[in-house]
This record gives sequence, structure tokens and C-alpha cells, in this order.
Amino acid sequence: MDKIRMTTPLVEMDGDEMTRILWRMIKEELLEPFVELKTEYYDLGLENRDRTGDQVTVDSAEATKKYKVAVKCATITPNAARMEEYHLKEMWKSPNGTIRALLDGTVFRAPIIVKGIEPYVKTWKKPITLARHAYGDVYKASEMVIPGPGRVELVYTAEDGSVSSETVHEFKGAGIVQGMHNLDCSMESFARSCFQYALDTRQDLWFAAKDTISKKYDHHFKDVFEEIYEKEYRAKFEASGITYFYTLIDDAIARVIKSEGGFIWACKNYDGDVMSDMVATAFGSLAMMTSVLVSPQGYYEYEAAHGTVQRHYYQHLEGKSTSTNPVATIFAWSGAFRKRGELDRLPELCRFADLLERASLETIESGKMTKDLALITSLENVNVMDSADFIREIRTRLEALLGCE
Ligand code: NAP
Ligand code: MG
Repeated sequence: MDKIRMTTPLVEMDGDEMTRILWRMIKEELLEPFVELKTEYYDLGLENRDRTGDQVTVDSAEATKKYKVAVKCATITPNAARMEEYHLKEMWKSPNGTIRALLDGTVFRAPIIVKGIEPYVKTWKKPITLARHAYGDVYKASEMVIPGPGRVELVYTAEDGSVSSETVHEFKGAGIVQGMHNLDCSMESFARSCFQYALDTRQDLWFAAKDTISKKYDHHFKDVFEEIYEKEYRAKFEASGITYFYTLIDDAIARVIKSEGGFIWACKNYDGDVMSDMVATAFGSLAMMTSVLVSPQGYYEYEAAHGTVQRHYYQHLEGKSTSTNPVATIFAWSGAFRKRGELDRLPELCRFADLLERASLETIESGKMTKDLALITSLENVNVMDSADFIREIRTRLEALLGCE
């Protein structure tokens, strides 16, 4: 079989620990034998981030602006323990945060559905994709503990010095207060990313907030979505047969639970934080969750939703084989190939992405899986495999699907 050719490179962002080990295995067993792999490689492993003063992270995001599609391995976000472990010069920021800030994107997370791993919610048949706004609100709030009686006000001083104010509360005793904000530019790019992704994936878009109670703050979110939808997307949505739908957050939650899935649920920052863990857990496993950062300019960065699986890595370092699930990382690659194939009009590359995903899912459905899935599957006579054997098993199926000798 001739290898499938690529015309434009993917931006490849390597990472840390167990996922870095899986990354190599996936490339060697599942990609390089079949695809004439073209990537521009950036090593986002913590040692290299430290060596380059984190410049490599910035460079990889800039390269994503140039080539439009990136695939990223999970990376360590340093904390005090990691400072010591890796003798770091600085407590570098989360690479995901840095990349998101530079690409101005929204993160979409969707479960990978496979027979034998049943969602806890019986009605869910299709994936629910969660889009979380990643700026502001309670994550950038200022707070005060109010020690005793007194007045708290919101005060806005404009650039010309004019002042307007609003009383928050006349405290009769002790209490607490919080001030939070958001920005039109951030809400607008969040809305555009959601509308664009809905079109790309031909799924309905739901957005929910609490505008009945929060008549200015949440209402503004609703208005921003509504205005952009009417001006820029209504015609495109109608042409592609999908809908945009706004409802109250409590109503949305009731509808989500009763739904079949198969739509995108856009959430404000806090709602998205809480609801993405709920959706991931209810679908079965974080190791079966894909994640893609989509910018309103049309840049895409694919990754797994889980971290570097540190505990397994330490076992690996002791020379033990581990049963770490590579599926979300495989799907990061297939997602990136499919998008590259669409942009460059390479149907062969899109087909390869489809078959790689199919080979992975059929392997699990045949009862061969990693330990995390074996613990929750409804299949019987399961064969628990380590990562290397599981990946080789996927390769055998992939070769058959591709019609290799
Ligand atoms: P984690 O890597 O997601 O792993 C937490 C636990 O979940 C694992 O110990 C394992 O459970 C299970 N798990 C996650 N992915 C799995 C997989 N593919 N296969 C099998 N089991 C899996 O989170 P963490 O250990 O809290 O964080 C480790 C590092 O990842 C941290 O330094 C953090 O900064 C980083 N992180 C990076 C990203 C990212 O780059 N996107 C996201 C989150 C965290 P058992 O141990 O029970 O087997
Ligand atoms: Mg959370």
C-alpha cells in the first residue's frame, strides 16, 4: 500500500509523562506506517518548556495560526511539587491557558461512544458536546469579607472621570461580597466559535444562562449570542438544517437529561466547569473524551481531555507495563487528520481518520480493552490489555480495514 500523502504540515505539540510514551507508540504503530506524516514538531515537554523559558509554547501557538491545525499531547501544569521534581526556573503557566489566550478559542469536549460502555443516563444515544466559555466571571472575580454594618457599592469611573454607581447592599451585619466581569470581545468570540463549530459538525447549538434573575449580566450574554446569530449565522444554520436555541440554565439541565444527545451545549465559564465533569462521568470515562480548541478565526487544536496520567508513568519508570487508555490521544490525531484533510481537500486523509477511529472502537467492542474500560464495561469475557498490546491490536484491525497485505 502507498502511504497517504499530506500537503500541509500539522503542528505537533509533544507533551509529558505517560501520554508522551503513548504519543510515540501511536505514531510508530498507527500513523507512520500508513501516512507520509508531515508535522512541524514542538516539544512542549516540561524540560523543554523550562529550557526555552516557555517560548516553545508561544511558538507552537503561532505555528497553529500559520497552519491552522494542531494536535497536542497532554502536558504538566507545574505546581510546587513539580518545581522541585523538574528543578524548574519558574512555575510556568498552563500551556493550555497560554495557547488558548493566543488563539482566543473555545474548548469543545465530546465523549467517544462505544458499545459496551453505557452512559448512566439511559436516554443518551449520541454524544453531547460541551462548549465552555474560558474567560472571566467568578474565575476573575474580586471578593471581600464584610466585617460589619456598612454600604457596599459598585462604582464605575469612566476615562473622562465621570462616575456612576449602584448599591450592592446596605449591610446591617457581617457578610461577604463579590464583583465579577466579562468582556464583549470575549463573549463575541465565544459565540462565534460555538456557531462555527455547530456548522462544522452539523449539530444543533443550545445556550443557557439565568437571564430572568441576572437581568443585565446574563442577559447580556443572551443578547450577544442572539445578535451574532441573527446577523451572521441564521441563514447558514437554516441552509444546513440545524437550529440555535436559547433557554434558562435550569430548563437546559432538565432537557439535557431527557435528551438523546447529539447537540452542542454552550455554557458560561462556571456552568461549563461543573457540567463538563458531570457529562464526562455520566458518559463513562475521562479517558474516552475528546477535546478541541476552536478559534473564531478557524484555528483548531486537538487533544485528549485527560492529563499526563502521572501514576501510570511512575509505574512505567519502574519497568512495569501499564494499561493506560490511548483512545482519546488517538482521536486527537484522527480529529486533526480529518480537519487537515478537509482544509487541503485530501479525502484519503479523512478516510484514514475514519478508519483509525473505527479500528479503535471495534477493538474495544470485540472485548479487547485497557483496564479502565474493563472496570466499567457491560461486555462479558473481556481481555484486559496493556497499552502496547492494545495499540498493536488496533493496528491489526486498521491494516484489515485499509486492505493492507
Ligand atoms: P490525569 O492525568 O487525567 O489522571 C488522573 C487519573 O485518571 C489517573 O491516575 C487514572 O486513574 C485516570 N486516567 C486518566 N486518563 C487515563 C487514561 N488515558 N487511561 C487510564 N486511566 C486514566 O490527571 P492527574 O494525574 O491529576 O494529572 C497529571 C498531570 O496532568 C498534572 O501535572 C496536570 O497538570 C496535567 N493535566 C494536563 C492536562 C492537559 O494537558 N490537557 C489536563 C489535565 C491535567 P488511575 O490512577 O486510577 O488508574
Ligand atoms: Mg472542573
